[in-house]
Amino acid sequence: MTDLAPLAERYDGLILDLDGCLWVGDRPVGGAAAAVDAWRASGRPLVFLTNDPRSAPDEVVQRLWAHGVRASLDEVVTSGVVMQEYLAERFAGCTAVVVGSQAMVRHVRLAGLRVIADVSLVPDADVVVLASHPGLADPELTWAVRAAYAGAAVVATGRDPVVPSDAGVIPGTGGVVAYVEYCSGAEAVAVGKPGAHAWRIARERLGVDGPVLAVGDRLDSDIGGAAAAGIDGALVLTGVSDTADVQAWDGAQPVAVAADLGALLLA
Ligand SMILES: [Mg+2]
Repeated sequence: MTDLAPLAERYDGLILDLDGCLWVGDRPVGGAAAAVDAWRASGRPLVFLTNDPRSAPDEVVQRLWAHGVRASLDEVVTSGVVMQEYLAERFAGCTAVVVGSQAMVRHVRLAGLRVIADVSLVPDADVVVLASHPGLADPELTWAVRAAYAGAAVVATGRDPVVPSDAGVIPGTGGVVAYVEYCSGAEAVAVGKPGAHAWRIARERLGVDGPVLAVGDRLDSDIGGAAAAGIDGALVLTGVSDTADVQAWDGAQPVAVAADLGALLLA
């Protein structure tokens, strides 16, 4: 078992991003599994916090194990989980138009909302839920614009413009948000990173009062968002942001910048 780096020893809890941090597309990042093992060996809690709205938490757990990373369901906070908590607090009993995967539709239903499946009910929707997914197409985009245009609240899993993949970046939920906002004139609330809701839920899952370290590959969503929530952020260079971005970044500075998760957390 490899020891933890001195930086990691300073923290009581760890929040790890997934895409661009633990893996890129289907390829695991070097040292990621060993870094998680070393952290677990120290007996401190960790949470996986991802803005990826496509997969259900149990699918994320399976993917982590497939990459050699031990994980349990209560450690996984997807932006779908954050969305479910947000909707349950504010929109239980309401009707929703959903742009999202089947996993996202389940989250919306579990929050106590009715998902509209009849076009005639779209203008009366209370809320529009936005989360990019493969196969995104009409009529869901038109329904979303129509409901938002008629006055429904708009809630999105995030505003990330792109998500890293094996073949290059793919469009993120931010593109869907821009489309619906532009067409409808509505303004969306984003519940995922960098928003406060995501960090609050991640902190609650960790259950520690002491200092927490968040690790991610995006300066805006991961580092900026963590700082706004009072959490130190460390950047790994295996995803979206690179060293040139770090030099140009005028937001909250990362406490460390490392080549990958192993280089950051392992001695
Ligand atoms: Mg990421």
